Amino acid sequence: MKMVTCPCGFEAKTHSADELVKLVQVHVQEVHKQDYPQGITREQVMSMVKDV
Ligand SMILES: [Zn+2]
Repeated sequence: MKMVTCPCGFEAKTHSADELVKLVQVHVQEVHKQDYPQGITREQVMSMVKDV
């Protein structure tokens, strides 16, 4: 499984990296729009991914 833990405590865990990127992008848009006015890129999400 691939997992991303957001500094706010949000966790996303999926089997597919593509799915994970989508989940984190939606989360960032909903919760962290101020920090990422342009949205978060796939590369930024992938740099946060851990294999679990
Ligand atoms: Zn968050």
